[in-house]
Amino acid sequence: RSAVHRICSGQVIFDLSSAVKELVENSLDAGATTVEVTLRGYGEDSFTVSDNGTGIAPSNFQALALKHHTSKISDFGDLSSVATFGFRGEALSSLCALGKLTVETRTKDEQVGTRLEFAHSGLVTGESKMARPVGTAVTVEKLFSTLPVRSKEFRRNIRKEYGKVISLLNAYALISKGVRLVCTNTTGKNSKMAVLRTQGSSSLKDNIITVFGSNTFKCLQPFNVTISEGCQVDGFLSKPGPGSGRNSGDRQFFYVNGRPVDVPKVSKLVNELYRSSNAKQYPVAVLNFCIPTTSYDVNVAPDKRKIFFSSEQTILLSLREGIENMYCPQQC
Ligand code: ADP
Ligand code: MG
Repeated sequence: RSAVHRICSGQVIFDLSSAVKELVENSLDAGATTVEVTLRGYGEDSFTVSDNGTGIAPSNFQALALKHHTSKISDFGDLSSVATFGFRGEALSSLCALGKLTVETRTKDEQVGTRLEFAHSGLVTGESKMARPVGTAVTVEKLFSTLPVRSKEFRRNIRKEYGKVISLLNAYALISKGVRLVCTNTTGKNSKMAVLRTQGSSSLKDNIITVFGSNTFKCLQPFNVTISEGCQVDGFLSKPGPGSGRNSGDRQFFYVNGRPVDVPKVSKLVNELYRSSNAKQYPVAVLNFCIPTTSYDVNVAPDKRKIFFSSEQTILLSLREGIENMYCPQQC
């Protein structure tokens, strides 16, 4: 049974960035205004996500890392209108099965914090009091050490995995309003190195300037298109004209209701339309789809970055029109 659990866990948490993503989303779900990601050895040795959110109440300690334990769904009707990032109760249990999990937490109702240690099964093996501020810090040591083949591959590709984490954190840094995001990495030779630090500004514009710089921001134009009633896309896109794009598509971030997503058809369309006027360049894009939670599905794949629009054609068509209007107004 535990072998099966380990293998299934590898589908929820399939790389370093998916592990960090689950923890960051838990912090955001907990209402944190500061989220700090600490990597040790690029995440190979361990990583910690700590926040100043609500903390975890003692009544939740024992079941915290058991499969399908969640405090976020009150009945199954909730499943079709999920507003929080997490809802499956699988992240902590999967991380537990794949590495060594430690949780330090305190709610505003507790005088002191608690440090919890977990076995790979998800059971609590240690509980002790500790001084700490309100909030939660989750640490995972030696991710994938329980899956030897995966572990070897993980260590071999660690720099690439690290790069994906940074890109993911940039995605949150761009879209999160009023959340300070900090990421540091510590390696054997170097002491703590800050790799990302945002101020928690309250506008997308300020976030873009923090993450991409003001020179890049100057080459962007606000973008807003209504798809249908209560449905719209907004954000920023490279202005038309030579020299405002990039040589690679590494500065393209898409979201659904503020949740980072992979939408290959959308990025393909955006690239295609931009490149018809700027040969060989890619646009910078930060686009958020604001659509009702009932018109897309995030449940299908365990990796919640993959989503399915129920009216994909309508969305792509409106997007195409909006971008064509921006890039070649005379033709449209
Ligand atoms: P889910 O997010 O789907 O509920 P998880 O396995 O990610 O499942 O987390 C299990 C539970 O642990 C959450 O429902 C929440 O109650 C608690 N939790 C996890 N991380 C945090 C955090 N950073 N702050 C507060 N509560 C947390
Ligand atoms: Mg979660």
